[in-house]
Amino acid sequence: MLTLLFDNAFVRELPGDPEQGARLRQVDGALYSRVEPTPVAAPHLLAHSVEMAATLGFSEADVATPEFARLFGGNALLEGMQPYAANYGGHQFGHWAGQLGDGRAISLGEAINPAGERWELQLKGAGLTPYSRGADGRAVLRSSVREFLCSEAMHHLGVPTTRALSLVDSGEPVLRDMFYDGNAAPEPGAVVCRVAPSFIRFGNFELPASRGDTALLRQLVDFTIRRDFPELGGQGEALYAEWFAQVCERTARMIGHWMRVGFVHGVMNTDNMSILGLTIDYGPYGWIDNYDPEWTPNTTDAQRRRYRFGQQPNVAWWNLSRLAGALAPLFAGVEALQAGLDRYAAAYAAADRANIAAKLGLAECRDDDVALMQSLQSLMQQAEIDMTLWFRALADVDVRRPTLDPFNDAFYDAAKRSAAEPALHDWLVRYAARLAEDPLPASQRREKMHAVNPRYVLRNYLAQQAIDRAEQGDPGGIAELLEVMRRPYDDQPGREAFAQKRPDWARHKAGCSMLSCSS
Ligand code: AMP
Ligand code: MG
Repeated sequence: MLTLLFDNAFVRELPGDPEQGARLRQVDGALYSRVEPTPVAAPHLLAHSVEMAATLGFSEADVATPEFARLFGGNALLEGMQPYAANYGGHQFGHWAGQLGDGRAISLGEAINPAGERWELQLKGAGLTPYSRGADGRAVLRSSVREFLCSEAMHHLGVPTTRALSLVDSGEPVLRDMFYDGNAAPEPGAVVCRVAPSFIRFGNFELPASRGDTALLRQLVDFTIRRDFPELGGQGEALYAEWFAQVCERTARMIGHWMRVGFVHGVMNTDNMSILGLTIDYGPYGWIDNYDPEWTPNTTDAQRRRYRFGQQPNVAWWNLSRLAGALAPLFAGVEALQAGLDRYAAAYAAADRANIAAKLGLAECRDDDVALMQSLQSLMQQAEIDMTLWFRALADVDVRRPTLDPFNDAFYDAAKRSAAEPALHDWLVRYAARLAEDPLPASQRREKMHAVNPRYVLRNYLAQQAIDRAEQGDPGGIAELLEVMRRPYDDQPGREAFAQKRPDWARHKAGCSMLSCSS
């Protein structure tokens, strides 16, 4: 018998919708609606996270039971679970979208693990809720594999993120129009159990604020500080101000990590921004192959590129400004909120400089190092150089006689390489001269660089290959890829194939270079 201890503070302490069940509705004056998962036809476990299972106190034998698949497929509940869908709004692509809410995510409860940590369990793809807005409440296998794998890959890369416990095949098809071209087709369905200390988003605060419900807004803010920021002291406006500033700083650190590893979220709407500064809602995200700050994986965003790689630090600031606007009724003036946003700018600038120093292997980032990094980035963009391969190989540069030899695998286009070679060589000479002035001994430098410049990232085509196999009935590729991503900074002999640049066939293939929001 599987058991977990629950302490469901969110539903216990906050006002809920008096109506239960999945009837579509606008929900006023309440922060959630009680609704249960809709059982699936034949739940079958496809993959799980060993670390997350252990964190929750599940043994590998527990995970292998049919009960585990039933539970995390949405076909059974444990004693103490109180399922609900959260009510939130959001700004989508720059526009206020009104009430959104968990349309297919259902939180099961807040588990307290053996270490005393709070981990909320949430099923994604668990069926209709009051917030499903005409959609089906389900998720397809391909997007579920992507969310499952990336949640854990990001964790192992050291990026703040929601986690994933399990991936369950639902045994029933889901109808999707993948390219939005009128050709809907059945696809395999799945349910992911994701896990985080809190799933509260910026949009949870924006919705009551948009309705002028300051009492409800205040209740949620007080609750969030009490449950999720217990380290903060003080009270009243000063406490709110410090809390908002902490949210800003956490968000800055998260974005700093995204930029370090080459992650593009793809849909940075305010309903997809976690109040804990965790990466949340893995949809049409992507990883940078050839370095390109203009790139977005999201086909819905291909025209305006609002959420392109290089824009992410600015979008996060814009999103925090929307959160500040929502919180304004709790403040006498705007100064404290403005000060919080300034903390974002300062924290992001610090994260950016820390990234420059770490990625280049310098003890500190001097002002001229910013320019050094910028000239490298523009060369990488022009010459179509693989971001991950370049930075990993940078630790192998011979400072006495720098050449492009360590980077031979990092180029996508021979002609562009030739054209950029003289400039790249000049850059390497500049870099070698800079290293000569740096106090770090060479052996330490290499180790430090390898600890921030991953060898393995969840390249889009790798995830797609695992998906293709899973859709053919072989889930083995998911566990294989997860196994590699558990140690992204280690050279893993025999797994060189997972560290290669994007193959040519993947350049324009759906799932590998572009993703639709259809999921
Ligand atoms: P996303 O772009 O995935 O963050 O989703 C935006 C909103 O649409 C959220 O409120 C989701 O819960 C909802 N949503 C997305 N897909 C579905 C679906 N298949 N069924 C119900 N709601 C959905
Ligand atoms: Mg979302």
